[in-house]
Amino acid sequence: MNKDDFNEGLLGFLDASPTPFHATQNMAKMLENAGFVRLIEEEKWKLKEGSKYYVTRNDSSLIAFTYPKASNYMMLGCHTDSPNLKLKPNPVIKEHGVVKFAVQPYGGLLLNPWFDRDLSLAGKVSYLNAKDEIKETLIDVQKSIAIIPSLAIHLDKKANEDRTVNKQTDISPILSTNDDFEFSDFIRWQLEKNEIRDVKDIYASELSLYTTQKASYVGLRDDFIASARLDNLLSCYVGLLSLCSADAEEPMLLIASDHEEVGSRSSSGAGGSFLENTLTRMYPNYDDYMHMIRTSIMISADNAHALHPNYADKHDKNHSPYINKGTVIKVNANQKYASNTTSISRFMHVANRVGEPYQQFVTRSDMGCGSTIGPITATRLGIETLDIGLPTYAMHSIRELAGADDAFSLYKILLGWRD
Ligand code: ZN
Repeated sequence: MNKDDFNEGLLGFLDASPTPFHATQNMAKMLENAGFVRLIEEEKWKLKEGSKYYVTRNDSSLIAFTYPKASNYMMLGCHTDSPNLKLKPNPVIKEHGVVKFAVQPYGGLLLNPWFDRDLSLAGKVSYLNAKDEIKETLIDVQKSIAIIPSLAIHLDKKANEDRTVNKQTDISPILSTNDDFEFSDFIRWQLEKNEIRDVKDIYASELSLYTTQKASYVGLRDDFIASARLDNLLSCYVGLLSLCSADAEEPMLLIASDHEEVGSRSSSGAGGSFLENTLTRMYPNYDDYMHMIRTSIMISADNAHALHPNYADKHDKNHSPYINKGTVIKVNANQKYASNTTSISRFMHVANRVGEPYQQFVTRSDMGCGSTIGPITATRLGIETLDIGLPTYAMHSIRELAGADDAFSLYKILLGWRD
């Protein structure tokens, strides 16, 4: 596979995955095409050496793995969720001549970029069917149905100096001037598009707004990739393609977890039991399990802040990653990142061997440092862990920016891990 094919696939994956549910569904499809067999958590497992498997939890987190004789796994961790605006359970507000949606922010999103965007809606819906069974399905409206209009500058002369955004009152998207809108009818209509017609009742839903602007190249030489949800579908895609390209005889595992953006504390988040439960079922003998844990490595891949050219003083000048200059190794003395001498040198050694660049990131000592799934996994499992990420601008905006070279470069390093 060359870089152009790799990036074309990436753009398609980003557009087809407006929510963690859709990302998980798309990853599952790609894994099945690559010969991975689905496991169901509620069933008993009989794993066969030499086979490849995947399992999901909450339809929003996924673990996929080869199952060879050797158990010194190269594990890759990433997350399926991104900051967004989610609908409240009773979402419809009719006032001032329009129908609006009531929303709650999910994760630490940059709110300003959500204004004046063409928005659609996607997520998971549960309903009661004609046989009185509760069913769940995914919906994706796809069409632009809502928008959050800015307040004109004439009505707020200080808009460019000191406008703030109130999360309760300022960000309700409008969707119609026709107030006969009924939310349950709207959902039924979406279900009908999925050929689901025997709906007696709509129960619950987890629906997120997303921009309908497609992922695309930007730049004189297509230098950049602009898209929603690059954090962290970019890492999910690199991990997925690496695993799909791996030999079944190479011990490799991918975990893509939901809820990283809100702290990972959930049954399907990295702070939950999903990975530990799965690894225990793969290695029920405790001695085998510990041997696997202590000979494996977890590479936690979550995007890194590239040095913003207009805000260069936000970075430590000796640890400022550039776009299109390679994967970023994240280091933090206070263990906000789990990288240590052993895991960093293993990564550098492989990158040097395959001739791919890398950079190092340390946040300014007078600024707070974000964290990610690496330290959480290291704490839960006691596994050697490395935190890396691809350099990006505008993290947590509705449209983030990455380099067109970096994801393919990381893919090559991961493929070179076993050589
Ligand atoms: Zn992230």
